[in-house]
Amino acid sequence: MSAPRLHRPNLQRLANFVGAFGTLVDTTSDEELILAEGGRLLAGLIARDDWLPDEYAQADPTRYQQYLLHCDSRERFSVVSFVWGPGQATPVHDHTVWGLVGVLRGAELSQRFEHRAGAFAARGPVHRLQRGEVEAVSPTVGDVHQVTNAFDDRVSISIHVYGANIGAVQRSTYDAAGRPERFVSGYANTTLPNLWDRSKPLLAEINA
Ligand code: FE
Repeated sequence: MSAPRLHRPNLQRLANFVGAFGTLVDTTSDEELILAEGGRLLAGLIARDDWLPDEYAQADPTRYQQYLLHCDSRERFSVVSFVWGPGQATPVHDHTVWGLVGVLRGAELSQRFEHRAGAFAARGPVHRLQRGEVEAVSPTVGDVHQVTNAFDDRVSISIHVYGANIGAVQRSTYDAAGRPERFVSGYANTTLPNLWDRSKPLLAEINA
């Protein structure tokens, strides 16, 4: 059981982010620009931990969870909360589209992999992503990695933005030899946060 929430989640923060990201992808399809400016928007979203509803922050004892928070009406981007139970990790996997990862709670470890000179191996050191930090992935900047909760005794949560409806994208996991296996992630949830019920302030005004 999670602790009871004292305040209603500030969904307007997520709605504002979704709106700003929509404006960004209206303005440009340049990946470098999207990763730079979108990274700043995501850093702003995760700077405050007062908006993610508890339903989308629940860990599962068997595996990490991926909750869809929003999908653009034209599937140009999606926003997902990844909830990592203690010690949970992804397989080595790719994305095939650009992605931004920002840590909202806890911390996570990211290890890049690459095929080079006929071998498949880790590239560079393990990168520890702290709360509030953002990392980018894509076929251009490095697309294959493995992500692990940095903690063995607590939940970590990261907010991800991808350049597609990521749960329905055909991509790959990789075994130790770098052999790909087809993979479609899907989502853990069947409902979405209601970003569009903005009636509360209006009702408060009417009833004042
Ligand atoms: Fe990933």
